[in-house]
Amino acid sequence: MMKGILQFSHYLIEEAVNKGDTVIDATCGNGNDTVFLSKVVGENGHVFGFDIQEQAILNTQGKLALHKIKNATIIKDSHSNAIHHLTVDQLTSLGGSIFNLGYLPGSDKGIVTKSETTILAIEGILTHLKENGIVVLVVYHGHAGGDVEKRNIMEYANHLDQKQYSVLYYGFINQKNNPPFIIAIEKKTR
Ligand code: SAH
Repeated sequence: MMKGILQFSHYLIEEAVNKGDTVIDATCGNGNDTVFLSKVVGENGHVFGFDIQEQAILNTQGKLALHKIKNATIIKDSHSNAIHHLTVDQLTSLGGSIFNLGYLPGSDKGIVTKSETTILAIEGILTHLKENGIVVLVVYHGHAGGDVEKRNIMEYANHLDQKQYSVLYYGFINQKNNPPFIIAIEKKTR
């Protein structure tokens, strides 16, 4: 069976991220990936979750409380500032990151991720990412402005140096209504 988009994004993270790693949920949204990441890194690892929207911060904190999760820090700030919130030790153990692009379902559709800040965030994370670490982008692009972000992200990802990164595209090409797809960036060993 082919894995769905969500399932495949989690599979990629599980393959690349180790117990004890630091990881970044760049778009907390409803907090589902934050909970998932906290389990992957285990009690000795740590998740940093970012969102600019109050509702997303509240939803995520609620979910963490429900699951009694202690190894996560939720920060209301743009993911473009993410790396500035981590200590040197946390930066050197950075094993992975997930981005869910687009708007928060059930909330303000006017608040969407934008390619300028998304790419800035990816660049910062890639600089510090461990070898064999991974950045997984789940690209939702059906909303107003989503086509622009998609185009810019693809352009950016297409030009990442193949000596340094493996860049994967995963998506279902016969689905209607702008289905989400995955771009995954793995840092190669030097
Ligand atoms: N489209 C996905 C969910 C995307 S949620 C789905 O359908 O499942 C995207 C989240 O990114 C939103 O909660 C939004 O508030 C957040 N966001 C937008 N810009 C951001 C930024 N610069 N930094 C961090 N989070 C951001």
